Amino acid sequence: MSYLRKIEYEIVLKDSFCLIRNCPKCGRKAHYINTKKFRINANGNILDIWLIYQCMECKHTLNLAIYERKKVSSITKEEYQCFLDNDEQLAEMYGKNMQLFRTNKADIDFDRLHYGVLKLHETVESSGLGEQFIITVKNPYQMKIHSEKQIAMVLGLSRNQVKSLLEKGEIELVMELPQSISFSTSHCLFSMIP
Ligand SMILES: [Zn+2]
Repeated sequence: MSYLRKIEYEIVLKDSFCLIRNCPKCGRKAHYINTKKFRINANGNILDIWLIYQCMECKHTLNLAIYERKKVSSITKEEYQCFLDNDEQLAEMYGKNMQLFRTNKADIDFDRLHYGVLKLHETVESSGLGEQFIITVKNPYQMKIHSEKQIAMVLGLSRNQVKSLLEKGEIELVMELPQSISFSTSHCLFSMIP
């Protein structure tokens, strides 16, 4: 039977963002990493909460504001407890939150990202066009990863192999946007996909 398989992947960050900033102690641009610790300042019913980053070289710290002048009553007890406990999951969640870096005017080091692909879901429809595959790779962080590299990650092939398959027309790039790409193929390259 002929069928159309649609498979969706997402590029996921494995680690928090690393940022670049002038370090006053090192006296030059340095890389700062997530300590996965929070700093909390509670003054009456007003809260300030920061995520602490530190210079990889000298451990000079840099605080990224998560909440500033926020009413205690506006965050849940559970969330507040997580901040008090330096909850690692919560610290990682903020460490991957691009908006936090934007509002703190912190430059993310895009050359130091560790990422992978995660399969989200798959649908199979019957079709009259033979075996067709349409693969979408979502890129929610809009990381600058070449489409060939994205295809290579999904298929478990090298970038050169993908390049040659694209040239031969065995893979066709059907959509290329900063937030996602789609490619199609009728070639059964996907038997190797877990
Ligand atoms: Zn430093």
